[in-house]
Amino acid sequence: MIYGSLEAGGTKMVCAIGDENGKIFEQVKFPTLTPEETMPQIFDYFKSKNVQALGIACFGPIDLRKDSKDYGSITSTPKKGWSGYNIVKAAKEALNVPIGFDTDVNGSLLGEITYGCAKGLTDAIYLTIGTGVGGGVMSNGKLLHGMLHPELGHIRMPLLKNDPGKSICPFHDNCLEGLTSGPSLAARWGKTADLLVDNKEVWEIEATYIGTALASYVLTLSPQKIILGGGVMHQEQLFPLIREKFKEALNGYVVTEEMDHLEDYIVPASLNDDQGILGALKLAIDAYAEK
Ligand code: ADP
Ligand code: ZN
Repeated sequence: MIYGSLEAGGTKMVCAIGDENGKIFEQVKFPTLTPEETMPQIFDYFKSKNVQALGIACFGPIDLRKDSKDYGSITSTPKKGWSGYNIVKAAKEALNVPIGFDTDVNGSLLGEITYGCAKGLTDAIYLTIGTGVGGGVMSNGKLLHGMLHPELGHIRMPLLKNDPGKSICPFHDNCLEGLTSGPSLAARWGKTADLLVDNKEVWEIEATYIGTALASYVLTLSPQKIILGGGVMHQEQLFPLIREKFKEALNGYVVTEEMDHLEDYIVPASLNDDQGILGALKLAIDAYAEK
């Protein structure tokens, strides 16, 4: 059986076909232009491969409420042409196969839970720190949607006194995304993060915000593992620093075996940047099984 997998991002669309064992046979990419320009190419690709179901892990915010008339839409994105576009409806019309749908970050988390470093866990978080900051959550074995879907990137942070920068989020003057995303680092320090590797202050501040946020997630969601991905997390020196700041933030309050082994608890993504496409593949497999 051939399943289709689409990782729909704000800059590129990654399409793949694979099987129920998580084997990816082929991957192609299209730039994200307008829906009218981009989506027909994608649907033609999947049609030519005769996929039996399609999983879509999508940038957002998106409408995931199954009983909503707008289920499957991208809602309030500033990305030109995409606000209000119903990607699930369009895919269904073009392909006439079961469609699985979730956020990009839930997709990445599902990839890690099914095929990667969180295999077998029922409660986990995937946080991406890239152009934006977003998080996927699995709770009690289910991807968490709730009212809409969690927005872990926009929680308020205590501002650090020694922080020379400020939040660049248009909505919040002190949220995690506004203070730690790649563009936020560039705005604060005047150059992109990859050129700041040797500046200790940069990573000290970055890790303090991230570690503090992770402590809040542990207190509210009680994950068994936290996976960190996204462009900024390519800075490997962040991991030990984040674990240290996380520990300071919790200050010994949570006592579990996991807290004694933070190197296995706060971890990098494990699937060579394929976690999103593999998660979307699992969405397709599940959609087919449910049909
Ligand atoms: P997106 O979030 O758009 O899907 P990424 O996760 O690759 O894409 O995030 C892009 C952001 O990550 C950019 O702001 C970029 O400056 C930053 N970034 C990319 N590579 C690195 C790196 N090696 N070190 C630090 N920051 C990086
Ligand atoms: Zn914000």
